[in-house]
Amino acid sequence: MTLTVAGSINIDHVIRLPQFPRPGETLTGRDYRIVPGGKGANQAVAAARAGAATRFVACVGEDALAGSLVAGFAADGIDVSAIDTVAGVNTGVALIQVNDAGENTIALAAGANAELTPDRLARHAEALHCKQLLLQLEIPLDTNLAAARAAKARGARVVLNPAPARALPDELLALVDLITPNETEAERLTGVAVNDDAGAAAAAGALHAKGIAVVIITLGARGVWLSEQGQGRRVPGFSVQAVDTTAAGDTFNGALVAALQQDRPLAEAVRFAQAAAAISVTRPGAQTSVPYRAEIEALLE
Ligand code: ATP
Repeated sequence: MTLTVAGSINIDHVIRLPQFPRPGETLTGRDYRIVPGGKGANQAVAAARAGAATRFVACVGEDALAGSLVAGFAADGIDVSAIDTVAGVNTGVALIQVNDAGENTIALAAGANAELTPDRLARHAEALHCKQLLLQLEIPLDTNLAAARAAKARGARVVLNPAPARALPDELLALVDLITPNETEAERLTGVAVNDDAGAAAAAGALHAKGIAVVIITLGARGVWLSEQGQGRRVPGFSVQAVDTTAAGDTFNGALVAALQQDRPLAEAVRFAQAAAAISVTRPGAQTSVPYRAEIEALLE
């Protein structure tokens, strides 16, 4: 059985500027690029490159770039049969400004991602007959709920990367087997600040109390807080020279479920995912920075 990712596809328009323009101001930037993005897409690519047979449920619009995006996923070995082209809308777009301090601002237009409704999902019911389902929060919440319910009923492990940060209904959390917030997302979900190990343990405890068996809080360069059945510990990541942390979290999530798909034990899957994410931060970009299985295995040797 495959691993299914249901989620977003975005076209990222990235412009570098000395500083962010103020309201009403026009600033000329340098280096404009159009690159594939979206948390669902990044995580599907990460899972496929990490070696898992991956199916992607998503929507694109009827624009010129959509075809090349989907062709790119297919070239990565992803099963694209459940990617719908929706008439009359654009593919999701992210307008990203990066300033000289390396900070960014991101404006999103959901476009076709908002068309991945529960009704449309129901047309791809076979995709939810999977071993694992990986979800994020860039498609409608009702769709995530329907997907989690259907996959869980068929015995799948439901993995939720609760990004971008928002509060979530208990109904969804109760369907989740493994959750992977970063520090900000963990705080948004639980109200507990994750500034240290004690905070991570408390936030993980609050998520276990919602019915989630495994909680992995990602801590950037500090690694992760791994908590299973209430037993938590920090697992350091790999020490690397970071040049661009974009999609570190997405790479971690895709590689994690790919390793679990291969029935690796949880601790080993976390190490594999941290190795993949560490490689991704040494390279610029989102999908361009996602490593392949052989590279990950080489770092683990
Ligand atoms: P992003 O939003 O940038 O994609 P995130 O906030 O979702 O990231 P992080 O917690 O920053 O996720 O990173 C995810 C994982 O990536 C970490 O748990 C760690 O394993 C790895 N990682 C991130 N930054 C670094 C770094 N500087 N060096 C090594 N590993 C890193």
